[in-house]
Amino acid sequence: MANIIFDTLRNIIHDVNNAPDFEHALNIIVKRTKDVMSVDAVSVYFWDDKTEKLILMATDGLNKNAIGKISFNVDQGLVGLVFKHAEAVNIKDAHIHPNYRFVTETDEKSFHGFLGVPIIQHRQVLGVLVVRQTRQRRFSANDETFLVTLAAQLAGAISHAEIKGELTHFLEDIDGHSFSMKGLSGSPGIAIGEALIVFPPANLDVVPDHKIEHDEVDDQIILFNEAVDNVAREFKELSIKMEGIISNEELALFDVFGMMLKSESLINAIIDRIKAGQWAQGALRETIDEHVKQFDTMEDAYFRERAIDIKDLGRRILMHLQMQKTVPKEITGPVVLVGEEVTVSQFSEVPIANLAAIISTKGSTSSHVAILSNALGIPSVVGIDNLPVSHIKGQQIVVDGYSGQIYVKPSAAILSEFHRLISEEKLLDAELNELIDKPSETLDGIHVPLYVNTGLLEDISPSLKSGAEGVGLYRTEVPFLIRDGFPGENEQMGIYKQVLQRFSPRPVTFRTLDIGGDKALPYFPVVEDNPFLGWRGIRIMLDHPEIFITQIRAILKSNIYGNNLRLMLPMVSDVSEVDMSLEIIRKAHKELNDEGIIVPYPQIGLMIEVPSAVYQMEALAKRVDFFSVGSNDLTQYLLAVDRNNKQVSGLYDSMHPSVLKSIEQVINVAHKYNKPVSVCGEMAGDPVSALALLGMGVDSLSMSSGSLLKVKWMIRSFTQENARQLLDEALAMEAVTDIRILFNDALNSAGLGGVVRAGK
Ligand code: PEP
Ligand code: MG
Repeated sequence: MANIIFDTLRNIIHDVNNAPDFEHALNIIVKRTKDVMSVDAVSVYFWDDKTEKLILMATDGLNKNAIGKISFNVDQGLVGLVFKHAEAVNIKDAHIHPNYRFVTETDEKSFHGFLGVPIIQHRQVLGVLVVRQTRQRRFSANDETFLVTLAAQLAGAISHAEIKGELTHFLEDIDGHSFSMKGLSGSPGIAIGEALIVFPPANLDVVPDHKIEHDEVDDQIILFNEAVDNVAREFKELSIKMEGIISNEELALFDVFGMMLKSESLINAIIDRIKAGQWAQGALRETIDEHVKQFDTMEDAYFRERAIDIKDLGRRILMHLQMQKTVPKEITGPVVLVGEEVTVSQFSEVPIANLAAIISTKGSTSSHVAILSNALGIPSVVGIDNLPVSHIKGQQIVVDGYSGQIYVKPSAAILSEFHRLISEEKLLDAELNELIDKPSETLDGIHVPLYVNTGLLEDISPSLKSGAEGVGLYRTEVPFLIRDGFPGENEQMGIYKQVLQRFSPRPVTFRTLDIGGDKALPYFPVVEDNPFLGWRGIRIMLDHPEIFITQIRAILKSNIYGNNLRLMLPMVSDVSEVDMSLEIIRKAHKELNDEGIIVPYPQIGLMIEVPSAVYQMEALAKRVDFFSVGSNDLTQYLLAVDRNNKQVSGLYDSMHPSVLKSIEQVINVAHKYNKPVSVCGEMAGDPVSALALLGMGVDSLSMSSGSLLKVKWMIRSFTQENARQLLDEALAMEAVTDIRILFNDALNSAGLGGVVRAGK
């Protein structure tokens, strides 16, 4: 029996997960449950935050016209009772229960047996699943177990089938409501604009064959030529738009594409296929496939990379073939770019002046879209995976990049509140801008240099403008991530040199390649069960000395503008890794010397982001010149909370007492050996946690350029003594929530509330 139930459940859940949309998923649940349990009616009610009511969302057995119309308060009826107590209610004869509420619209007068269970996700009751019987029926323990299990699975399936977004949309259809959803903060700030949806590129692989008649050939050739012209024009426009925003090497890619579009072997082959009776899209697919195969088999890595470019080009032409006759909408007002995975080239579809905010349904706080939007100072929300992207085109959206909240079709009240906050932000920005040239000094005269985190050339200008005293973390993996293969020594050097030159004489700390974990290179796939505990950072580099030494040589060779280079190693968990790395760095330095390239030996530092390194500080301090705490990973590893997993994001907090205590320990030991400590994780850029770090005596802080002036404002508003006292108080506390309240209150009392939330 138990097996049959389990199989039935598994089948239902499987079908729910594969349902095309929310409505189908719910209908599968009610219909199949009715059959399996031999009941007369099954209904699902969902809680609507806006109306604070439970609304009938699906039914099999009750009157379907009542869907969306029948609703209960928590104090009404047996459905309300299940919701309120978050417990199953099993009643043989509902009519005689004091909570029974008679509802005529559902034709329910004939029902007696009642079993209702709550649908709970993340400790929150989302709704109620109810089965009814015309006769009196006391449901068995097995029935109850089945329904409770189904409801629990249903709650899980809700996120899987992206139902929550559709649920709100569904409610909106019914009641004309706006809705709001929460993702992760990608980049701070608030903005209001019209949603512009950017779709992933068209898929060439699924284009079918289609025979055309002789008299259709000319039309298809015209369509194809138009698509090619459009793509060529698009590349030209993009290239002009991105000049000065992206690096010259990235710009050069547009020229490569332009040349390919003129290549006769490609274009003529497609036209020949059309003439032979294949429609334009099919001819494109066949020809691109053929070219890709040729390049794929080539020995030379450069040519193999071109296969990817050709595929990309094919996709772009296909996109134009598929959207022919749709005229692109002219962009006049502020735009919120919305997509599954918003890419750099999609950024550039909108003039920067009109780009108000970005929403990416995929991605995390440290993903490329977050880093780029931070660099450009554009608010963004990422990882909002339930968003019904295809339903919100052209809608007005409010984006709160501080909290990760978005409001689609906001009500007049929300809109006016956000307009108020935006004007306050402008005032605050003006005040903050006055701090650019002022020193980052506490009220008792302690200088705490503020550096920027970067990895993009496009980030240099905003960083310099923010008054940063240098680069505290240059994530070298970023240039690796946006290429099609490992950049060579000279290519890397070209990038590093530009950064050093622009910042000279200010120091620039290059972190060696930190890939693995969530940062996979498309051309170096690593598949592991536990990537964050696997082949990451320095571990990969030591296993691939040929890649490591190329990078070290490129970094050392770039140091010709005033000795402002510092080198830093990520993910160190053991002294042996440091010893081996130092050996490779010394070898690279000697090689260069032997080649006649005389460059200074740089200061070398370590990132402290693995708990084992915290406890090895004495040994590490004897080996290197400086430290930088990677609080993002240190928090993840100390608390055993995946930094990108929304399911447990409520547990992820760098102000947790154990995180604070370990950072304090790092600073104390390093200072014993006269070695400076910086913090370059997100907590350095959050004025609340930066205040705690100030109390620990941190020597410098490194953050994204957008946070720098806010943190400077905080530093200039406190004495270090005062920060130390707050820290001592915090370290005596047991709960992270109390610690946050303490520091938030301290900032509010100092008049700095505006630096931690939207508004002033
Ligand atoms: C960190 O872990 O805090 C850090 C700065 O490194 P990343 O975010 O690049 O892993
Ligand atoms: Mg890290």
